[in-house]
Amino acid sequence: MTVCKFGGSSLADTSQIKKVEAILASDPGRKVTIVSAPGKRHSEDIKITDMLYTCHAEASAGKSFSESFNAVRKRYMEIGQELGIGISNLSDTLDQIELTISRGESADYAASRGEYLCAKILAEYLGSEFLDTEGLIIIADDGSVDPVSYELLSEKLSGDSNFIIPGFYGSAKDGSVKTFTRGGSDITGAIAARACNADLYENWTDVSGILMADPRIVNEPKTIAEITYEEARELASIGAAVFHEEAIAPIRDAAIPIHIKNTNKPEDSGTKIVLHRDDQSQPIVGVSGKIGYTRLFVKKLFLQKNPNFIIKIKTILTIYGIEPEFSSVGFDSISLFFNTNMAGNKEEILTRILTELEPDEISSDAKIAMIGVVGEGLYDSKGIIAKVSTAISEAGVAARYINYGGSLITCVIGVDETDYKTALEAIYSAIA
Ligand code: ASP
Repeated sequence: MTVCKFGGSSLADTSQIKKVEAILASDPGRKVTIVSAPGKRHSEDIKITDMLYTCHAEASAGKSFSESFNAVRKRYMEIGQELGIGISNLSDTLDQIELTISRGESADYAASRGEYLCAKILAEYLGSEFLDTEGLIIIADDGSVDPVSYELLSEKLSGDSNFIIPGFYGSAKDGSVKTFTRGGSDITGAIAARACNADLYENWTDVSGILMADPRIVNEPKTIAEITYEEARELASIGAAVFHEEAIAPIRDAAIPIHIKNTNKPEDSGTKIVLHRDDQSQPIVGVSGKIGYTRLFVKKLFLQKNPNFIIKIKTILTIYGIEPEFSSVGFDSISLFFNTNMAGNKEEILTRILTELEPDEISSDAKIAMIGVVGEGLYDSKGIIAKVSTAISEAGVAARYINYGGSLITCVIGVDETDYKTALEAIYSAIA
């Protein structure tokens, strides 16, 4: 049995929905389908979810949101008409949603209606059963999934029907509608796959899998054929986002493989995310990165022997809402790297550390990029880190930071932002 999830671009209009229909029809094992809200039809288009957030923002500011809601209405009515489903019912549901938003329902409720309507339409069109996740998927305040959700969903998913389920939302503990973070339909798909102990979780999107590097930087990077859950999370945490990183947790323990596939090119083999893979032939799966880091460098004699000093620096950073993503401690100094957007009060922070902790030296350096080279084979193969550092030095790039060992499957290299593209291209060429 296969659980399928289709992303917004796979449901953006009728011609995309017909592709979904063909994919589902081609394999009777595809019995449970999770849908996102319709996404962009072209680059200037707006996603339904964004339109619904706008409706809520206008309504809660006391403004008229009828123009924004009419744009949502138009898209669904168009899809409904083209698919030949019961239009008056759809129109009544849209009226009801508009009324509920006008009465002050939450942003989560407004946004969730994108998936709700999409699943309703698709279920009617395909003659499948619509299964709402309200009251079945319980989302804790911190966004995590309450394990009771698996039992609740599994009871409903037994039987022989084909189900269409809206992604992205469930209920909070108090029963109100609650969404996951953006892109959260991937999480709903993972919960459903776990709940019905699926053999496979197919995640249908508009790319033919996860690429070994960012195609905006590297020319035609290869597609990753197989990647482990852990590698996929590491790659996503430092840039490459095809699959929501929180969607791994529900299925990792059950070891259900995820298959990333392209709705527009179903014949492409895609990427499989699995528990284990053979890392001998392909020790490294990919390279990804992000710009926009700031380094805070603090020097104090015997710093390493004084853990309180480090705790105090981190406490000051926490007070200013700064959570370092990377750090490295030397004998007499420490470097902490965090997203530059967090460093709004940089001067104040530096002054506070200076006055409260009296370091020997303190400086900060913005415009750092971090690059992660990820692969389960990194630990056991010899010479990969040498190859990577040779590649960047031959490309004329200076490494500002290197960290291997925090995670045994990722080597992180910091470079100046101006060298980011050159370094990434050079590393890709060395490992691909
Ligand atoms: N529609 C939601 C979003 O745009 C959730 C999803 O597509 O997964 O973030």
